[in-house]
Order: sequence, then C-alpha cells, then structure tokens
Amino acid sequence: MNRQRLLDRFLQYVQIDTTAREGLDQYPSSPGQLELGRLVVEQLLSMGISDAVQDEHGIVMGTIPGNVDAPTIVFNAHFDTSPETSGAGVKPQVIESYAGGDIPLSGNPEMVITQAKCAELSELVGKTLITSDGTTLLGGDDKAGMAIMMELANTLLENPDIKHGPVRLLFTCDEEIGKGALHVDVDKVDATVAYTFDGGGHDMVDIETFSADLATVKFTGVNIHPAIAKDKMVNAIRAAGEFVDRMPHELAPEHTEKREGFLHPYTIAGGVASVTLKIILRSFDTPRLAEYARQLKHIASVVEEDVPGCTVNVEITRQYRNLGDGLRKEPRAAAYALEAHRRLGRTPVPGIIRGGTDGSQFTEKGLPTPNLSSGQHNIHSPLEFACLDEMVAAGEVGIELLKIWAEGPDDVPGL
Ligand SMILES: [Zn+2]
Repeated sequence: MNRQRLLDRFLQYVQIDTTAREGLDQYPSSPGQLELGRLVVEQLLSMGISDAVQDEHGIVMGTIPGNVDAPTIVFNAHFDTSPETSGAGVKPQVIESYAGGDIPLSGNPEMVITQAKCAELSELVGKTLITSDGTTLLGGDDKAGMAIMMELANTLLENPDIKHGPVRLLFTCDEEIGKGALHVDVDKVDATVAYTFDGGGHDMVDIETFSADLATVKFTGVNIHPAIAKDKMVNAIRAAGEFVDRMPHELAPEHTEKREGFLHPYTIAGGVASVTLKIILRSFDTPRLAEYARQLKHIASVVEEDVPGCTVNVEITRQYRNLGDGLRKEPRAAAYALEAHRRLGRTPVPGIIRGGTDGSQFTEKGLPTPNLSSGQHNIHSPLEFACLDEMVAAGEVGIELLKIWAEGPDDVPGL
C-alpha cells in the first residue's frame, strides 16, 4: 500500500461536496456524487481497469480480473456524506504524528476534539490524523472507504504475484439516506460475497445489524366544538397519549444497549379527530419483531376499551433484516474476514451494529456483506476525523482477504 497516494486521493475526495439530501425525488440526491463518480471512473481507467463505468444512477463499478480461479469478491464504499452536517467546502487538516492531547479545529474555536469525549484518541498517538477545520464534517464516512479501495486496486495491479480471484469495485450513492442498495442489481454484480469498507476505527468486522420494522398507529376519534362536546367528543390525542404511556418503558432506546432491542415512538402528528404515531421496532432476534408487533396490537385493543368510540389501527411495515441471518448461509464471509486479521497478527473484533447498513440490504438481496473498519471516527459531526494508518491497515486486510478467498481454506475458525 502506498500511504502517500492513499492520503492524496482521500484529500481530493473530501473536497468534493457529496452531501446527501433528504426528501428529493432525484437519484442520486446531490450532483457532487456524480462528479466524484466521474473522477473515480477516470482514475480507475488510468489505473488500467478498462471496464470501469458510471451507470445512469451514478453507481460506479469496475473489475480487476482474477489471476487464479476463485470466487468473485466485491469491495464497496459510498460516495455521499451525511446530511446531518454540511460537507460543502471541506478544508482537510493533516496532523502528522499526532502528539496526543486535545485537537482544536482552526475554523471554529468552539470545536475541539477532546480526549475526554473521544476515548480512542489516546490509542492514536504517533499516527497521522485528518480533521476538517471544524466548520463542516470531514467526510471520512465514507471517503476513507473509497480511498482504501482505490489504493487496494492500485496495489493489486502493481503486484501481479498476489493471487486473487476477480475483484469487483462497487461505489454507491445515497447510503446515508437509506438508498445505497436501491439501484444495485445483485445479479449483475454476480459475486459470492461483498465487503463494505464503512466501519469505524480498526480491526472491526461487523457481522450483525438490527432487524427492523415500522409500526404506523392511527387513532381515529370524533371532533366537535368543545362547548357542546359532552358525551360526544372522542379525543384521539388522549388515546395516543395513553398508548405511548402503556408502551413498555424498559424497551425504550434510552434504556437499552448492546444486544437489547427496542420499541421507539419517534414521530406523532394530528389533532382531536385523528392522530398518526410512528414507532420503530428493532431487535437482533428477528422473530422478536413479531412479538413486539403483537404487544402493540394488544395495547391498541386496551386503549380502544379505555377511550370508547376511538379506533386504534396498527399497521406493520417491513424495513430490513439482521445481516447475521444472511451471513449464516455463507459462513466464509465473516470467517475469512476475521482470519485475514489474524494472519496479519491483529486481533479482530466481531461487531454488532444497532442500526442497518447497506450490507444488510445487499445480504437480503442474496449477496452476503460484512462491514470492515476504515479508520473513521466521530462520524456525521464537525468533530469527525480519520486515521491514515488505520486506512492503510484496512487496505492490507482487504488484500489478505483476497488471498484467503483464492486459497479457499476450510480449516478456519468459524467454518
Ligand atoms: Zn458510511
């Protein structure tokens, strides 16, 4: 891996504004994603990846042909950055050989990356860190992943002695607004397994996500002027209040962590005549979602009894499923990723994500996709930073992973 070349590309990518925009009809949601995609295609072509192309949705794909007969592996990163903090006019600051201590950001005196609030900083003394100037996010999520993939590709092309099967480089759009997998045709990608370079820090292999459903609860009451409301008005707001109050408090996100699931009422709208309440259902244990749904329907019937004349209707919509459910069908996906770290003398940490990833959607579509560390820290914030050494380390993991897939060992832990 060429450290300087990786850094140069990273700095180039973060200066193109690819902030995803919510609530728009267009795909991708911002023109910068197309611009960055065009740049990546140019760079892939000049590297010698002759089939590199940007499709009508802005998705970029290119293939490094295999030099041995082995399964096709996909590496994936996303072009867009989070809409939570602006990614326009990013001025990256490179700190070589970080000396320790807090990091004040030059563009905004209020913004300081502190050791108190960022435990991993103390492990990064001596490393090269990249921050924004504190007025924008950095965009390491996921331009770190992109830069890792590009350097990984360069390294493979320059070292034909590294044995690997076909390697598909896949860059997607609008991951941050849940649409990263929307236009990805898994049949066209035609691979055995994919890895997203979109995780935090180093040496993590995310192999589980939540399973997720959405409940839309509709309360229908009867409105009438309050002056003449006696025995006539049925207030949907009271029914909704009672419903939320009857939800199990111990199952709220503010009271749960680690492997615990939750029921989270997150938005409510309406008036006396009707109220719509939305609740997200989350669990690592997929069948538990049906139990949560039953609980909500039971509460609905109790509320209907308590507020006579009010109807409460619970509708469940499927969202996404635990990555781990799909990974069990291809145990090599996670086992080889963990083994790659061990072969490099590192200690891999299998991770779980209290949310979803593009990988959960790829996996559901039939392409098993664990997530790998890529040196990201404090994502979606002006206090975001990335670690170059961890990016290099992630690229090394990718190369080791390809070697293992080319070998196809069956004596790896987890198989
Ligand atoms: Zn990301």
